[in-house]
Amino acid sequence: YADSAMYHAKQMGRNNFQFYQPEFTRRSQERLALEAALRRAQKKGELMLYYQPQIELQSGRMVSAEALLRWRRAGGEIVPPDRFIPAAEASGLIVNIGEWVLQTACEDAVRWNRERAEPVRVAVNLSTRQFVRNDLAGTVRRILDETGCNPAWLELEITESLLLEDSRDVAATLETLHGMGLSIAIDDFGTGYSALSYLNRFPVGQLKIDRSFVHDVPEQRDKCELVKAILSIAAALRLETVAEGVETAAQAEYLMAHGCRLAQGYLFGKPMPLAEFNAVLAAKGASASWA
Ligand code: C2E
Ligand code: MG
Ligand code: MG
Ligand code: MG
Repeated sequence: YADSAMYHAKQMGRNNFQFYQPEFTRRSQERLALEAALRRAQKKGELMLYYQPQIELQSGRMVSAEALLRWRRAGGEIVPPDRFIPAAEASGLIVNIGEWVLQTACEDAVRWNRERAEPVRVAVNLSTRQFVRNDLAGTVRRILDETGCNPAWLELEITESLLLEDSRDVAATLETLHGMGLSIAIDDFGTGYSALSYLNRFPVGQLKIDRSFVHDVPEQRDKCELVKAILSIAAALRLETVAEGVETAAQAEYLMAHGCRLAQGYLFGKPMPLAEFNAVLAAKGASASWA
């Protein structure tokens, strides 16, 4: 295949070589370029964390904030994670980046909780790659130690696909992390290949209801039924629930009425750079009414 492309290229002359390269070569070159750019970005300190509030619906208190990765390019352009995390995962760079995310989120939480009676926890997203052939529990222990972050302030968001790995390593790591006092949330719950038995087998404390279900509540009956089903499973298993992507008061009311404890979304606050997050926290406080 590659040979015949080469043959064509030679036939057509050097200038046409690019044109005849097979699609997969172009793709992998793009990926390599992205990886290289990402490596430079990390060295130059272009990665940053935004924070988005998680609100307790009943009280309107901010109890937690999710750390969301952004890449701020030299020109000021902000690149969202969906555009670079897949490449970071494929190349393994995510292990290093993920460590930086954990470290930074812990440092930030320690600072914002310094003079706070009721702490605001921080939730960090983890990739499967960080669990496999990596001493994640050791890394987390070291970071908590170095930053002085209380383990109870740190939540880890994992996906259903991690639990599908079904490896002893994953289970043991989750048990160790749980034993250290961290809480574990399943992100985008309901979108993966959920087997409900996971919820009993792993030390999971929280389900995050995916935005795609929340979006059409309360208008679409089938989405309402799905949300209610997730909430009743969570209640039966004593899991905490967070609704993602809450944008309207009608969504928040519906979720609260059906027993969802926490919500996160544009209705309460968009993900913000640290300085803005700290300013909002100082102005509104954690216990002031966010709802
Ligand atoms: P996620 O963990 O499910 O994060 C929630 C996403 O929903 C965020 O997108 C957030 O900005 C967006 N969102 C929040 N509220 C609303 C809303 O009301 N409406 C709408 N339309 N969207 C809302 P974001 O920041 O682009 O992150 C996308 C995904 O990238 C995350 O999804 C997470 O899977 C991944 N990600 C982000 N940061 C990290 C990280 O540090 N490490 C890893 N491994 N993955 C990360
Ligand atoms: Mg998340
Ligand atoms: Mg999510
Ligand atoms: Mg999501």
